[in-house]
Amino acid sequence: MSVAARETHGFQAEVQKLLHLMIHSLYSNREIFLRELISNASDAADRLRFEALANPALLEPDSDLKVRVEYDAAAKTVSVVDNGIGMTREEVIRQLGTIARSGTGEFISQLSGEQKKDANLIGQFGVGFYSAFIVADRVVVETRRAGAAASDGVHWESDGQGEYSVENLERTERGTRVTLHLREDAVEYADEFRLRTLIRKYSDHIAFPVVMTSTAEEGEAKEEAANEAKALWTRPRTEITDAEYQEFYRHVSHDFQEPLTWSHNKVEGKREYVSLLYVPARAPWDLWNRTGSRGLKLYVKRVFIMDDAEQFLPLYLRFVRGVVDSGDLSLNVSRELLQQDAVVESMKSALTKRVLDTLDRLAKDDPVKYATFWKEFGRVLKEGPAEDHANREKVAALLRFSSTHNDSATPDQSLADYIGRRKGGDEGGKKVIWYLTADSFNAARSSPHLEVFRKRGIEVLLLTDTIDEWLIGHLGEFDGHEFRDVKRGELELDGGDQPEAANPKPDAGEHQALLDRLKQTLGAQVQDVRATDRLSESAACLVIGEHEMGAQMRKLMQATGQTVPEAQPILEVNPAHPLLKRLATETDEARFTDLALLIVDQAHLAEGGQLEDPGAFVQRLSRILLG
Ligand code: ADP
Repeated sequence: MSVAARETHGFQAEVQKLLHLMIHSLYSNREIFLRELISNASDAADRLRFEALANPALLEPDSDLKVRVEYDAAAKTVSVVDNGIGMTREEVIRQLGTIARSGTGEFISQLSGEQKKDANLIGQFGVGFYSAFIVADRVVVETRRAGAAASDGVHWESDGQGEYSVENLERTERGTRVTLHLREDAVEYADEFRLRTLIRKYSDHIAFPVVMTSTAEEGEAKEEAANEAKALWTRPRTEITDAEYQEFYRHVSHDFQEPLTWSHNKVEGKREYVSLLYVPARAPWDLWNRTGSRGLKLYVKRVFIMDDAEQFLPLYLRFVRGVVDSGDLSLNVSRELLQQDAVVESMKSALTKRVLDTLDRLAKDDPVKYATFWKEFGRVLKEGPAEDHANREKVAALLRFSSTHNDSATPDQSLADYIGRRKGGDEGGKKVIWYLTADSFNAARSSPHLEVFRKRGIEVLLLTDTIDEWLIGHLGEFDGHEFRDVKRGELELDGGDQPEAANPKPDAGEHQALLDRLKQTLGAQVQDVRATDRLSESAACLVIGEHEMGAQMRKLMQATGQTVPEAQPILEVNPAHPLLKRLATETDEARFTDLALLIVDQAHLAEGGQLEDPGAFVQRLSRILLG
């Protein structure tokens, strides 16, 4: 079989779009191409060292792994050369012609062509190899996979306009050379001083030496590394600047934005490992994708082992990026082995605490940054109490909700804030955190269920996330306080800011005839009809039984295809309301029925619910308005 022939391929459509957007939106940031190429070269060296653990011959005859940056001002070229793992012809076609990560196509099609916005989006996506085309109008890749014959070298070339060519190449050196033929407006990069500055700025933390040569003087050049060439996490914390931490974050995360915070720790004693964990400032586009990338970069005794090692953190902390370098694991550990390793298990629980403490510190020290964190990752963190029962109190302390305290649509209140402000609002002597669930913030804020709470100055959390009810179920309680749904069961409020503002307790005996008549008219639509002191402005509201499933849980279960029993709420009415007074004296049976049903429908609507039969509602309303 001969694959030596020259072939021309078209880039995958997504790649074309990405290339186009990248060239336009990253123009002002174009020097990053060097960082991206050096980062790839360093990854290639990492991967070779890893494969050489099982097959040391791969390192021969050149075991001194490094990255070389060459420039030639006359020819207007810059090359990044590594003696790492290299690529086969198939790999070249797959890696440099397509974008493999699932969901990428969709993501790219959201990009609009608006430069500023797209620069951000592209940044989070990780620009990688293709950034070469921001400064070059022709890019040549020459490569040979470690272990392959010299005749199996590959030459790849493209002008970034939609097509690329591949052909076989005789190549004695192992690894990859990427040569950029600079655009006229980018020739400034073929310059020693410029390149050296960029290497220091972007690639200091690369664990391999990055050496520089001018093609003109090759051979006699001194081999002096232009970077520090020491893995960042191995250095003492006190010697690392924030800028270095931030640059390293870009290397591990492919994210342009600065991280919100990080935590760098060296553990010694029973276990030995170093961890450097970052909290990003923005959710990656595939955070909710089941196949989305997650996990840490794993090193064992400084040797790179794998990307995306998921076993070191629980799923609800999947947004954390970073590195863990273990002194205890074996160099030939595999993904399968990681899953059942006791060392990994104990590291996972320590790293989880570390992240939760880091978030706690961020919340205390920098509420503005914490608000950003919450906006981006709050929903993921809410999975915590269910997944990680042991840490549920710690996770609960990090949660943020909207509340009647300030009626802000931005969830900015913690459970501790709530408890700190609480003045009574107990129920039957039990300390309670009151909450209300609804589909939207507006529906929550104006729910009739809040009337008595507002009047008495008792704070209520407003929960509008679809998983909130499920979350509360897993929390159970917080700091000795039970969670209590304002819509559930009968209220027995004590205290509050203004307990004297309580609505008068209706006398059930006095209204019994009306309640019975309503119950008879409404039939199976409701479980019961009661007089209530919950309401002051509204005529009625719907209450669910003490042990019944709430509306959110119902929806959540229906969405996953489970059948849930028909809801049968309790109608609570405010006998002091004019509508109820009017009903009490209504003698026309048909009008009584219309009014009674309207009251139920209103109660549904007032809490943001949907009517089973909107047409019938409209007809009834018209009859009443006209009659
Ligand atoms: P990323 O590095 O984020 O995966 P890139 O676009 O930079 O994306 O690179 C795509 C792939 O091409 C890499 O994952 C790697 O498999 C391959 N690649 C790029 N540069 C090199 C190199 N110097 N040596 C070996 N493989 C490389």
